[in-house]
Amino acid sequence: MHDEVKSAALNPYQMAVQQFELAADKLNLTEGMREILRQPKRELIVHFPVRHDDGSIKVYTGYRVQHNVNRGPAKGGIRYSLDVTLDEVKALAMWMAWKCAVVGIPYGGAKGGVICDPKTMSPTELERMTRRYATEISIIIGPHGDIPAPDVNTNSQVMAWIMDTYSMHEGYSIPAVVTGKPLSIGGSEGRNDATATGVLFVTRQAAKRINMPLQGARVSVQGYGNAGAIAARLFHNEGCKIVAVSDTRGGIYNESGLDPAAVLRYKQENGSVVGFPQSQRMGIQDVLEVPCDILIPAATEGVITAANADRVQARIISEAANGPTTPEADEILFKKGIVVIPDILANAGGVTVSYFEWVQDLQSFFWGVEEITQKLEVIMNRAFASVAEKADQYSCDMRLAANMLAISRVAEATQIRGIYP
Ligand code: NAD
Repeated sequence: MHDEVKSAALNPYQMAVQQFELAADKLNLTEGMREILRQPKRELIVHFPVRHDDGSIKVYTGYRVQHNVNRGPAKGGIRYSLDVTLDEVKALAMWMAWKCAVVGIPYGGAKGGVICDPKTMSPTELERMTRRYATEISIIIGPHGDIPAPDVNTNSQVMAWIMDTYSMHEGYSIPAVVTGKPLSIGGSEGRNDATATGVLFVTRQAAKRINMPLQGARVSVQGYGNAGAIAARLFHNEGCKIVAVSDTRGGIYNESGLDPAAVLRYKQENGSVVGFPQSQRMGIQDVLEVPCDILIPAATEGVITAANADRVQARIISEAANGPTTPEADEILFKKGIVVIPDILANAGGVTVSYFEWVQDLQSFFWGVEEITQKLEVIMNRAFASVAEKADQYSCDMRLAANMLAISRVAEATQIRGIYP
């Protein structure tokens, strides 16, 4: 059992396929349709040289994977990490396909990654690596085919380099080739906060369903990057108490509540949240098990497993990260009555505002932040209601419900387009 759990945690693609099969069974999908949907449409592996500042040359390996694109162009982030594997990218691409379908935006799934340790690279090395990687994958990305965005260890600057590289090759500016860009080159208002804003919107709905006021609710956040740190700030503004946060170096805890802005400043100055004054230091996994009402995993995959799910004390888990919970853990959490708002729903605010950015770029017509937040809230609340309704109908957890909803939409598009030729 333990090995099974470990392998699920170590191999996100197996985990994604396992989740897919559960939904496919409930939907009575044919074997042919399952074969189409359980694997990506395209997997590109690139090995490319980059000149380092000291004159040495290092060869990097990168990936770009596209899942089903029957509902629209492929869409998904790019991550830089030593942990990137082809299977991880395949899983993340599949989850993107379901995510876009669950919120009803017209995209297929994609994901990319480069095996590297950006923390040890200079800005110029990072720029050269990004530009070369962008060139290598430019044979499959483009504003109408596959649109990258930021993910772990990539940001708006990285997107600007990709947009510029792609545009240089074409001979004119093509802002719609990536989203999550800086505002000055066609980025969207609200994109930076979008993922965390979406997490807040759906958590509000989940809290309402179990009659739990957000005012005073204790929140624990794993990961203090784009998704986690902004979620901590927004939940704090909502009246919640942020009792624990963590990053790769460890966790910090204060039962009377942490000030998320002060923690962020501390992290920016010291490289980690660990050591923040008036906080108790914790182990890296402990944030998942502290007494709290809402747990927001916002770091990486496979962190809530059969080994620790029993010790989770939260009433709501709102998955800002992709794939933080293994299928075995899902079962345990469901039996414990913990509401898990699954990743493909909880963190879909990011891709939704990316979609808004892409639409604005294609039209060269930009909207204000109020309009964006309002449109995002409508989409997130509608998706939450549809998933909750399905979960009630099938007496199942929200992950299975969200997957059923999403997969049925992708299957329908695949069916109605037909098999070429
Ligand atoms: P990021 O690089 O900005 O931040 C990641 C954070 O997680 C960092 O603070 C890092 O120190 C921490 N971390 C990494 N591994 C950890 C571990 N094992 N334990 C504790 N902390 C750890 O990345 P991000 O964009 O915030 O993405 C985080 C998660 O959210 C990923 O799963 C990503 O796919 C998902 N996500 C992000 C967005 C987005 O718009 N940024 C959208 C949807 C989903």
